[in-house]
Amino acid sequence: MSLDEALERLLSTATGQRITDTETVSTFEALGRVLAEDVASTLDVPPADNTSMDGYALRAADVPAAGTVLPVSQRIPAGVVGQPLQAGTAARIFTGAQVPPGADAVVMQEQTAAAGEGQVRIDTVPTSGQWIRRRGEDIATGATVLRHGDRLTAQAMGLAASVGRATLRVCRRPRVAVFSTGDELLMPGQPLRPGAIYNSNRYTLRGLLEGAGAAVTDLGIVPDRLDATRAALREAAADNDLIVTSGGVSVGEEDHLRPAMLAEGRLDLWQIAMKPGKPLAFGAVRRGPSASGQGAAAAEGRAEALFIGLPGNPVSSWVTCLLAVMPVLRALQGMPAAAPRAIAVRADFDWPRPDRRREFLRVRFNEQGGLDLFANQSSGVLTSAAWADGLVDNPSGQVIARGDTVRFLPLSALLHA
Ligand code: AMP
Ligand code: MG
Repeated sequence: MSLDEALERLLSTATGQRITDTETVSTFEALGRVLAEDVASTLDVPPADNTSMDGYALRAADVPAAGTVLPVSQRIPAGVVGQPLQAGTAARIFTGAQVPPGADAVVMQEQTAAAGEGQVRIDTVPTSGQWIRRRGEDIATGATVLRHGDRLTAQAMGLAASVGRATLRVCRRPRVAVFSTGDELLMPGQPLRPGAIYNSNRYTLRGLLEGAGAAVTDLGIVPDRLDATRAALREAAADNDLIVTSGGVSVGEEDHLRPAMLAEGRLDLWQIAMKPGKPLAFGAVRRGPSASGQGAAAAEGRAEALFIGLPGNPVSSWVTCLLAVMPVLRALQGMPAAAPRAIAVRADFDWPRPDRRREFLRVRFNEQGGLDLFANQSSGVLTSAAWADGLVDNPSGQVIARGDTVRFLPLSALLHA
């Protein structure tokens, strides 16, 4: 199956199970949340013409030549509203203060000099309008500044505040349960015994999911046993919208997710034509009667929790979470489906032996604006992921020669699109 086909199926299911609950949060607390309303401005921003410089507000026509001396008729600090400007005078004014009626220009103080008691010399010929920020030049009353489905970045929170919004209506956080499978896994802090490795996916996945606005329930490590896997799935389904697991989705004898999922719900095991990240499982876990009536997810009346099983190899887990789980989280929160925006960038490396599958290569920008390749592209080498600025999306069988233009997916686009 192609990744695009897998995504289409994932997204159509997720869109059908879109979270409809919303909540009102303080604009301060809205970082990363997804808007459940349009935000329209009820005011002009800025609310009045104001100066972008410390200096003197005056009529440009009163200064026909550099060196003109004008009496200073008033002083207007920021936050104070001055008097209408008397013709033939200048008002001392400070950045952010409203320009008084009658003035049509500001001369910055660096282009003026004191000229005796209560007078100022203007050493430039001003043009009408200079250094004035116009009322409504950022936002006009009635303009929609943010839309339903927009993710609230730091800038978007600031923008909402600039139109006076103390609270915002947002989608309820998607509730996501995560567990790792594998008897070889230990947690950092435990001594490493022979045969064991530390559980890195638990950290990577939790970080990605929380960064995408999810409320994560971490169910830890589940042993490679059918009964334990089934119990973990039931617990996870009770009050979550989505269950994300790592490992155990190959078809080895120790991979118990498939039989456990078939017993607790339904599952498709996909072999996706991508590298890294070939095996991906997608399904749903039934909610038992004990779960109904409890919790937010159950309260919305859905009978099942979605399930995505990621491969265990750390880079595969990370890449498939970026490419498949992030879009599902966006769809669950009502964000419009949009492929991450790829940019055309020069490859400063050779890739002479491409895979038959579509590959996602770990790359990083160099100072010349080209892309360097991490030397070891193995799916177990997490160093490559921590080093990378993003992924090159390389089509099946495509040789890359130094200087070629490739499709680059910046991490920022994969994480926050
Ligand atoms: P699996 O998909 O369970 O066959 O695992 C594939 C590879 O990924 C094996 O080498 C596992 O040891 C490794 N692996 C699985 N889960 C994790 C994890 N949570 N953290 C780090 N490595 C893992
Ligand atoms: Mg395993």
